[in-house]
Amino acid sequence: MLRVLILGGTGDAAELAARVATISGIEAIASLAGRTREPSTPVGNYRIGGFGGVAGLVDYLHRMQIDILIDATHPFANQMSFNAADAAAEVGIPRLLLNRPAWEKKQGDVWVEVENVTDAATALESQAQRVFLTVGRQELSAFAHLQDIWFLMRMIDQPNPDAIVPPGVLLCDRGPFALENEREILIQNRIDAIVSKNSGGDATYPKIIAARELGVKVVMINRPAIPQGEQVADVESAVAWLVDKIKELTGGKPDGDKTTTP
Ligand code: NAP
Repeated sequence: MLRVLILGGTGDAAELAARVATISGIEAIASLAGRTREPSTPVGNYRIGGFGGVAGLVDYLHRMQIDILIDATHPFANQMSFNAADAAAEVGIPRLLLNRPAWEKKQGDVWVEVENVTDAATALESQAQRVFLTVGRQELSAFAHLQDIWFLMRMIDQPNPDAIVPPGVLLCDRGPFALENEREILIQNRIDAIVSKNSGGDATYPKIIAARELGVKVVMINRPAIPQGEQVADVESAVAWLVDKIKELTGGKPDGDKTTTP
């Protein structure tokens, strides 16, 4: 029995954990950072909380006898991705990065592309009055000095009571979000700019479509750097990679799909 650690925090990671649970000969443990107060827990075994840097992760990989590491964290969780790359290299186990493609600008999109949240805040100065801020609660303080702008701030959980928050209204909600919902938000709140990370995927893309339809500007935060190494773009390819890796490590075929085994 081989053991795979799936670093999660995304819908892709949850889907992957559910798929891996159907493959015989492999046991998966999903790992969540523990940022959300009521996380959607993955199928199968899981753990919650940081490892304690590269050293902590190395220790965990040894202690739990992990054979394979799949990094399915959010594209902006790059600290964890670099830690995973360093730890897997130190322990000498294979690592895969599941990195869904970034959204690409299409005809009709009005995007201002920036490199980080600080630059996103600068891009709003004297350019917007009513902003739909969708960068998550950890990044709100970067916009707090923009006192002349009204913000509709959407996040999964309320910010901590001592968090520095820009002026406006908080909206706690968890994706996926429907196009109709996003269109209504932009129209009813007279939004003139959206701030978004270029997260990729379908769950939060409808706001980008709604912005295109309504001619609303999007301040799009480009992705941070990721570690080098093997990567795939979707869950299906991650499963295929894993099945190949199991064959390679066991010198034979995996037992196959549990769900189809009579
Ligand atoms: P980060 O900056 O890359 O990581 C900071 C620290 O959080 C890591 O060093 C690690 O702590 C811990 N951590 C992160 N992911 C973990 C995981 N899957 N399991 C255990 N520990 C983890 O990450 P972040 O941007 O704060 O994101 C935190 C989590 O939220 C990630 O799992 C990510 O997938 C998810 N998420 C992030 C975003 C985003 O925009 N950043 C959006 C949606 C979901 P130690 O050093 O102590 O091990």
